[in-house]
Amino acid sequence: MMRRYIVLLLLGLLFAMGCSLATRATPTLKLGLPIDCTLGKDCFVLLYPDRDPGPGAVDFGCGRMTYDGHKGTDFAIPDEKAMAQGVAVKAAAAGTVLRTRNHIPDRRLIELGQTQSLEGTECGNGVVIEHDHNWQTQYCHLRQGSISVQPGDTVQEGEPLGLVGTSGQTSFPHIHLSVRYQDQVIDPFMGPEAQSGCQGPKSSLWKTPLPYQPTGLIRAGFATQLPQINQLWDGAFADKTLPVESPAVVFWVHTYGMLKGDQERLQLRDPKGKIVANLSRSIDKPQRIWTRSIGKKGAQQPFIPGRWSGQYRLIRGTEILIDHQEVVDLDSSVSRP
Ligand SMILES: [Zn+2]
Repeated sequence: MMRRYIVLLLLGLLFAMGCSLATRATPTLKLGLPIDCTLGKDCFVLLYPDRDPGPGAVDFGCGRMTYDGHKGTDFAIPDEKAMAQGVAVKAAAAGTVLRTRNHIPDRRLIELGQTQSLEGTECGNGVVIEHDHNWQTQYCHLRQGSISVQPGDTVQEGEPLGLVGTSGQTSFPHIHLSVRYQDQVIDPFMGPEAQSGCQGPKSSLWKTPLPYQPTGLIRAGFATQLPQINQLWDGAFADKTLPVESPAVVFWVHTYGMLKGDQERLQLRDPKGKIVANLSRSIDKPQRIWTRSIGKKGAQQPFIPGRWSGQYRLIRGTEILIDHQEVVDLDSSVSRP
């Protein structure tokens, strides 16, 4: 009788220990996409959280699409034209709105010195949402005046919070999503139990797993002059038709995540299929954001009217990472820009 009692007591103890172990595991938060777009098509994850506790920087895929101390995930849209049309920022999970800020002007930082005036408002216009079990999500750089929720509001997953903007410390239109558990920054690609660095088990918080895509094409197009990267973020050079009397026909690409040794090839063809400009180069140092162009200058004669095409290829080792073709119509009825 006594022995049976001891066995029951031991079983009870084991059960209690099991329960306390189970409650000690972190209650996870599952996240939906915080932006209304299709990843890889009209939006891109350009920067991930920095997983290096020291002065270096590494993303969860052991790549370099982050910078030292970056605490969130940056979902970028192609340019400010898309921003002007309005891209919704959405609650990644259900919760209660804790704080909002809505009055900071949208202004892309082009020079580093401009950050001084942002002291304390680096996030720009933002929303902080409190979720169950001490989880928080924060959304930064929203468009001025676009925030449609207030502190105390209950929101559901996917509910619009505002629009993507360029307020605060940002040099391209995007939202920065920070995830915190008990005030500690959590990398949503790794989960709350992950050690620092990029090795070890990953337990993603995304409901639908987000692929790691550290290299890709943001946009490509044609211009009549050499484009600057800031003009591309503005949304310039999106014309689908150019005049035949243009001073030049320039094919350009705007890409991200270039590594040293990557091979680029650009070709421009006239309507007869003849290659009129050709460039093959290797990348000599890593570039998070990149642009490359080739073109043909107009001579005394107007360009051949019809459909011109540009082809861009990015090759890493034996793998073709980007293979993109873009066309433009050269039209004699279009007046010179
Ligand atoms: Zn960021």
